[in-house]
Amino acid sequence: MYDVAIIGAGINGCSVAYEFIKEGKSVILFDQEGIAGGGSGAAGAFISPKFSKAGELKEMLHSAFVYSYDFYDKNFSHAFTKAPLTHIAKDEADDEALHVYKQKTQLSLQKIPTDLYSQLTPDAKKREYICIDGGVVDAQRVCNDMSYGAKFVKEKVDTLVFNDNFWVINETYSAKNVVLATGAYDMLVKEPYIKLRGVWGHRIKVKTTTQNPCSVHQYVSISPSNEGKLAIGATHNVHYHPEKNLKKYDIEQGRAELLEKAAKTMQLDNVEVIKDYMGLRSGSFDYMPMVGSLVFSNETLFTCKAFLYVKKPDYSKYVYYPNLYMINGSGGYGFVLAPYLAKILTENILHGKKISERISPARFFARWAKRR
Ligand SMILES: Cc1cc2nc3c(=O)[nH]c(=O)nc-3n(C[C@H](O)[C@H](O)[C@H](O)COP(=O)(O)OP(=O)(O)OC[C@H]3O[C@@H](n4cnc5c(N)ncnc54)[C@H](O)[C@@H]3O)c2cc1C
Repeated sequence: MYDVAIIGAGINGCSVAYEFIKEGKSVILFDQEGIAGGGSGAAGAFISPKFSKAGELKEMLHSAFVYSYDFYDKNFSHAFTKAPLTHIAKDEADDEALHVYKQKTQLSLQKIPTDLYSQLTPDAKKREYICIDGGVVDAQRVCNDMSYGAKFVKEKVDTLVFNDNFWVINETYSAKNVVLATGAYDMLVKEPYIKLRGVWGHRIKVKTTTQNPCSVHQYVSISPSNEGKLAIGATHNVHYHPEKNLKKYDIEQGRAELLEKAAKTMQLDNVEVIKDYMGLRSGSFDYMPMVGSLVFSNETLFTCKAFLYVKKPDYSKYVYYPNLYMINGSGGYGFVLAPYLAKILTENILHGKKISERISPARFFARWAKRR
């Protein structure tokens, strides 16, 4: 019997595994594809805050950025490359947002490095920019190393049954707690209020004679990769989904789009694409992540009728699945959020520390129940 079974070995699942192992707990980790075989393996994995004017997501991402930058640097420095991060505005509205961000931020702002500035296009040079200390995670390596000490099982989880006081997984393995970290894939536990949208992304590794030591973000991200190569990537294709589209994703067209967008920021000479990475990232419908216990909707509707339609529902009155949790919906910031959220979730499971209602999956149950 394991203390926790984690389903999904992307950055979210591996970060939870890391926290449990650190607490001396036994962990079994499942993934149908392998470690970082889903969206996490496709990611550029930049560690960056959200450069917007205001809002709760911006605030949360600022805290997560500060926490995770330090976390990767201290614990996984071998798989974390510190690189100045230059974010350039795309248009006038973006100029304004970056301007406001710069006035308010506590982060230490830098000048754009001269060797990068000289390579920017005239259009990029005209725009507002922010340059700070950022970093890039080696996604595969970090996920592998974070899950060191967990029993890894390469298997699709099809069944999850609660039996007395523990969960039985695929009729074979048992665990006291289960964490669903299944990204944009089908939710194993079907609950009508849990809705996630998958956004397709494509990243290419290119060989080029252009030198670029910085992470540059404008229409796409252009960053140093290993062995002197560059990585160019974006999660932008909201219209493509591997399970819903009949036509296969057009890789050549995707490459051309990425290179065309990169050329709007800087000129890249003698480019040769050497590898493609593709995957889905999952986001929630209010853009905030979903972390915590799962409400059992049928039972809650049946037993808590009186509490469902009040203006400010008390989530503690809902009925929850026993010892079943999720961590998902990190959008384009999975690598920034995962260490921060995994700590919050682990402290909740092991020490009963409360999770903010703003990230609890129960908020979606409350809205769904009212609309019914
Ligand atoms: C091209 C691209 C670029 C990105 N760039 C960045 C970036 O620069 N910075 C950043 O912070 N984020 C970035 N992201 C977003 C980031 O990758 C995601 O937020 C993050 O990977 C989500 O991690 P996850 O663990 O939730 O999901 P995933 O990595 O998708 O992991 C879920 C795993 O669950 C497994 N699984 C699902 N169902 C089952 C089942 N029933 N049984 C067994 N296994 C199952 C899947 O095989 C999968 O491996 C990018 C994403 C993409 C696609």
